[in-house]
Formats: sequence, C-alpha cells, structure tokens
Amino acid sequence: MAQKPFPNIPMQDSGNLTARACSTTRISVLLPMPFAGPFDYRAPVDMDLQPGDIVVAPLGKRQETGVVWDTISSLPADLAPPATEKKVDAARLRPVVCRLDLPPLSAELRQFIDWVAAYTLTPPGMVLAMTLRLHMRAAPTPTMGWALAENPDLEALRLTPARQKVLDLLADGNHRTTTDITNATSVSAGVVKGLANAGVLRPVSLGPERPFGQPDAHYNPPVLEGEQQTAAVALRQTVTENRFSVTLLEGVTGSGKTEIYLEAIAECLEQGKQALILLPEIALSAQWMERFSRRFGVQPAVWHSEIGQRARRLTWLGAADGSASVIVGARSALFLPFHNLGLIIVDEEHEALFKQEEGVIYNARDMAVVRGRLARFPVVVVSATPSLETLANVEAGRYRHLVLPTRHGGAELPETRVLDLRDHPPPRGLFLSPELVEDIGATLERQEQVMLFLNRRGYAPLTLCRSCGHRMECPHCTAWLVEHRNRKVLSCHYCDHTEPMPPTCPQCGSDHSLTAIGPGIERITEEARQLFPDARLLVMSSDTLGGPAATAEAVAKISRREVDLIIGTQIVAKGWHFPHLTLVGVVDADLGLGGADLRAGERTIQLLHQVAGRAGRASSPGRVILQSYAPEHPVMQALLSGDFDAFMQQEAAQRKPGFWPPYGRLAALIVSADTPVAADEAAAQLGRTAPYGEGIQVLGPAPAPLAVLRGRHRRRLLLRTHRNIAVQPILRRWLGMVNLGRNAKVDVDIDPVSFL
Ligand code: ADP
Ligand code: ZN
Ligand code: ZN
Repeated sequence: MAQKPFPNIPMQDSGNLTARACSTTRISVLLPMPFAGPFDYRAPVDMDLQPGDIVVAPLGKRQETGVVWDTISSLPADLAPPATEKKVDAARLRPVVCRLDLPPLSAELRQFIDWVAAYTLTPPGMVLAMTLRLHMRAAPTPTMGWALAENPDLEALRLTPARQKVLDLLADGNHRTTTDITNATSVSAGVVKGLANAGVLRPVSLGPERPFGQPDAHYNPPVLEGEQQTAAVALRQTVTENRFSVTLLEGVTGSGKTEIYLEAIAECLEQGKQALILLPEIALSAQWMERFSRRFGVQPAVWHSEIGQRARRLTWLGAADGSASVIVGARSALFLPFHNLGLIIVDEEHEALFKQEEGVIYNARDMAVVRGRLARFPVVVVSATPSLETLANVEAGRYRHLVLPTRHGGAELPETRVLDLRDHPPPRGLFLSPELVEDIGATLERQEQVMLFLNRRGYAPLTLCRSCGHRMECPHCTAWLVEHRNRKVLSCHYCDHTEPMPPTCPQCGSDHSLTAIGPGIERITEEARQLFPDARLLVMSSDTLGGPAATAEAVAKISRREVDLIIGTQIVAKGWHFPHLTLVGVVDADLGLGGADLRAGERTIQLLHQVAGRAGRASSPGRVILQSYAPEHPVMQALLSGDFDAFMQQEAAQRKPGFWPPYGRLAALIVSADTPVAADEAAAQLGRTAPYGEGIQVLGPAPAPLAVLRGRHRRRLLLRTHRNIAVQPILRRWLGMVNLGRNAKVDVDIDPVSFL
C-alpha cells in the first residue's frame, strides 16, 4: 500500500502543494557544531527556504542558527566522505523556526566549506562556524531590529498586556530595535526576547548602513617603469582573464611587490568585483593601511579576531552585500560570505602564521587557492622568500611566476656579514660581540637607526639552580619557564601558567642560586642600555606592544626618528619601511635551526631575510650582521651570498628522495590524553592499525616534543604518502578502525607545519 508521503501535512494543504514544494519540505540544515553533517528539518511552506538561507532551527531544547544545506556532489572522489544517510522519519521532522534576514550563503561558499571540511577531516559544521562567527541571534546591535513574523502562531502564545503592547506597536510594519521598543512601550527587553523566542517577532537588519568608503582605482596610481610595469601589466591581466589562476609575485624586500599587487586590486575594482588581501598579522599592519589609503583614497574594510562585535557585523554584512569592496584580513577572512569575490592576494605567503593550529586546522594560503579554484578567480601569492611548496608549484607549471629582481629607486640590498662568535665571543654573561657593539656605536654616531633582533620574549629562556642543577619547568607542559624580569615572574610560553620568581631554589632551598641562562630581548635591552646609555631605546614585542594602536605608535615614533635603537622579536621583521634604519644585528642567527622541524632551514632563511630587509630601504645603504656559532651552515651561507635559489634547490634535493612535502603528502596525528598510560594505549592502537602499502608510510607513534601540553600527554604519528596518494581516505579508514574511548583524543593535522 502506498504511504502518504508527508503524513504530518494536513490533507487539505497537500492538495495545493506543487511537486517542488513537496520535495523541499524536507530540508537539510547545517549547524555550526561538530556533528558529522547537516540535520533534516521540515520547512514551513510559507518560508520558501532555499539552500544558503540562514535559519534558526531547534536542537534539543535549544535553538541554533544554521544554514540550509544542499548535498554538494562536486567534491573529488577521494575527499568525499562516505555517505551515512539514515533518514529521519518524515513524521518526526521538526520545523525550522524562522529565516534570519541576512544574505544567504552562496553556492560557492557552501561548496568551499564542504571542501575545507573534507580536506581537513573536520566536521563541516566546524568550518561553517568560521563563517557564522557572529552572534547572529545575540542581542541585536544597533543595526539589528525586530519585525512581526509573517504568520505568528498567536493561539499558542500567552498574550500578556505587555506582549500585546509590543504587538500593537509593531503592527504598523516598521522595524525597531529592542531599545526602540522598550522606550516606546516601557516593557522590559525580556518581553521582546520572549516574543522573539516564541517566533512572533523576527530579527531584521535595520536598513543598510554604508560604513565603507569606495576605494577609487584611479585615486593615486604609482608611476611604474621597467620590471614593475611588466609585472603590473601581467598581474592586471590575470584579473581581466576572469578565471582561476595562481601567480607567485616574487621580489626582494623593497622591490615594490605591494605597489604591484595594489594594481591588481585596482583592476579588480574596475571590474566591479571584491578583493581580499590576507596578511599574516593584520594587527601589525598600520603602515599597510596607510599605503592602501594613499593609493585608493579610503581605508579598506578590516577583518580579524579583535575588531569587536559591531565592526565584525558590519564587515560581514559589507562582504555579503558587496559594499565592502576590499577587505584586508587575517586567515579567517577567507570564510567571509563575499558577494562577488574576484581576487585573493596572500602576502608573505611563506608565513607559518597562515596555518591555523587549533580548531579547524587549515592553511589559509592553500585554502585561498582552493576558494579561487572553486569560484574561478585569480589568486596571487606574494613573497621575497617563497616557500618550497609554492616554488614546486611554479616549477610544475601550476603557478605563474612574476619576479621583481631589484629594489625600487636604486636602493641597494643590505650587505650581510656573518660574525663567527667562536672568533669574536661576547664578554662572559653578555650576548653582543664587541665587533657588533662597535658597529652599533658607529651607526648611532652617524645618527642612523639600529635594530637588534632576537626572536625570544622575556629575559631568559631558562632559570637554573647553580647549587643542584634544578631547572624551572612548567608544571603543565614539557617546557622551561621563561623569566620575565620586568614583571618579576616566570611564565610558560605554551600555556597560561605564570608564577612569581621564587626567592630560593624550590628543590634544594639554596639562596641566590637561581641563575638566568641565555638571552631574551629583555636581557639584550639591559645590555644595550649599559653599552649605549644615551641612545633612545624602543622594545618591540608582544609584551611591550599591547595591540595594534601601540604598535602603530611605535612605528610612527621610529619613522619620526624619535628612536635610535630598536630591539625586538619577530614583530620587527614584518614589512615595515624604516628609511633611517641602516644596521640590523641578529643576536642569535642559529636560534631556529635546532629541533626536528622539516622546514627549520627554510624558515630561518625566510625570517632572517625578512629582518635583514628592514635595513637600507632608502638612500643610505644597509648592513646586516648575523651572530652565529655555525657560519658554515648552508643557511648562513645563503644569507651571505643572497642566493636563495641555490639554497631552495638544495632543500628540494633533500626532501625529494624521502617524499617529504612538497614531493609527498604528510598528515600528523596528535594523540592526547589525561594520563601517559591512556596516551600510550591510544597511540599503540593507532600504531597497530596503521595503514601500509606501496607509497604509504607511518612514522611513530612517538612522544611529541611537547610531550605534555596544558596537562595533556601527547604522542605523535606521521602519515607520509607519495604525492599521487591522497591521505584523507586512508585517514578516514584508519580512524574508523580504532576505538579510543573517552580518555584519549586524536587531532588530525593535514600538511603539518608545526611538529611540536
Ligand atoms: P615590497 O613589498 O617588495 O617590500 P614595497 O611595495 O613596500 O616593496 O616598496 C618599497 C618602497 O618603495 C615603498 O615605500 C613603496 O612605496 C616604494 N615604491 C615601490 N615602487 C614604487 C613606485 N613605482 N613609485 C613610487 N614608490 C614606489
Ligand atoms: Zn637548587
Ligand atoms: Zn605550560
């Protein structure tokens, strides 16, 4: 006997339903939560829901904001998760509560979200959460208000006098904020909320606010000649082609890369499309903003985690309705719901900061390329020291390549010298070699600025007892505590643990036996202060610069020449343009070379080259002095000769035979548990079930270098495959075979950057 298709719909209604309406009665809604996929709901007929609509749906006793999802079949076979369809009985489907008055998510964005989820082996809802990172339904900000719902179920509503007042007020059809309503009716905000929860009021945005000025492509174009002109033409071309391509824009620091990619943005604006620029540390980009507005007449819209609720909402809406035509952001800007995105620029593409290491573990540079491919627009990746991954893509013909070989305006690249600390050791207990000190003195005398770089916050990385050898370690991590002398504390740089500096050794009780070992920038500052008491010092680190405003102020001070000597961590390496800076001293050039990091050499070169690039950007030539105990190391040699191509070829030759990235694929499994036993058991289980076969290899399990982090015990395994073997299906099968129970957890890190 044929069953009634939708027994929950009264017969008299189904007569009026078209076939299409019938088939859309059951809809999928993806909620921004870690479920395996979307859930089925019933779409109230009058809501006319379409894929991409942002809705409120019941979940248990709560209501959640989600998105109407469609099954997207365009995932490549090796990424598509196996179907686990188990349809809920139509009779038991719960109805969607309401549709929010927000622009729907485009098919391209939905496809992108599915793709990222499948690639990173993350529940799609967690990726969606990066798009819906607004409190969509939270107390309305001034731009959000309320209207009467279309067909409120007034019969079920307990109609109190206060509620009646609100309904009467809104009966005129005007939209009002909560404050408007409470002011006009003197009911409490709770009444408004109650009506909203009952589905009688629906949230609406109160008229488009246009906070974003329109960048003008013709406002202040630069005069380009020679190589710059050629590169700009080629880059504009990629935009007018209006299809997917990736271009590497490579050029030494100061060659005008920024200037050139702003031309691509100008072209994109002329095409009436939106552009997105990803910067590794958007909070540190005051100078970049300034340059943008010099070129286009207005500031771009900004997106990062610290912009605040209101700006967040405005930028999100501006992306969605197209009124924000240029957005500059941190990696999460990649998940904004652009109306008409036509170009993504990834500046400093080699930066490890593009890798998000928590939550959804993804590389924004690589996913930018995916978004460009799915939505068919060009992507430009920019660097003075491109990653081997990107160079390999150039070599394989997948990426185009534009090169700016010389600095703009004839500025010379800085002259580099490696100072062998074995021949020129610093005095005992100090860290600056007399040779470097002499150079600093001479430079300061010429009224030029000096920068000292050490990528280590605090005073000293290790505190040791001279009597018993005890090391001050973090109680929650496998890590030494770093002394911060300014704050008189010891602090762990991996967790939040901080403790006062103990007066005596906690192990043996000796007095005055705790000794600082090794330098951090506080200690270098102390040394510099003694050596150059008259120099005006500025310390740049995340400890001294609270946020973007403080950083901008520090940078302005340097530009105004109110500072003689800058001492900083990697913050100073960012793309700053300091025309009066002529000497850069790297306190410990060997610092990044230890450890088991696949990319230690590559990273060190990239970082040090970028630091060095701060020197001599105007008419006076710059100099760089690298203090090193290993001057013969290929990294130092490459920095000396400036021949990065040769270094990268060497790197490539080292990685090829072992199928290390980019010549093979890599995925890390990080097991964590409350006890070492549970961690070992889970890791052993993964070890026993490890996949094998031609071109597949599993390394480990082994204790992670950070064997304990925030009290969790950690083990690592690495899956390495040949390039033509996708890791996702292997991982899915593998993880499906183990049963780790409640005690242990496995995080999957595709294309790992960190090996800690
Ligand atoms: P990069 O991004 O490669 O480090 P920039 O684009 O920052 O180089 O350029 C370095 C400096 O030279 C900047 O101050 C920039 O404004 C200036 N510059 C580069 N090209 C030009 C040009 N064609 N006309 C005027 N100034 C330029
Ligand atoms: Zn001791
Ligand atoms: Zn810790």
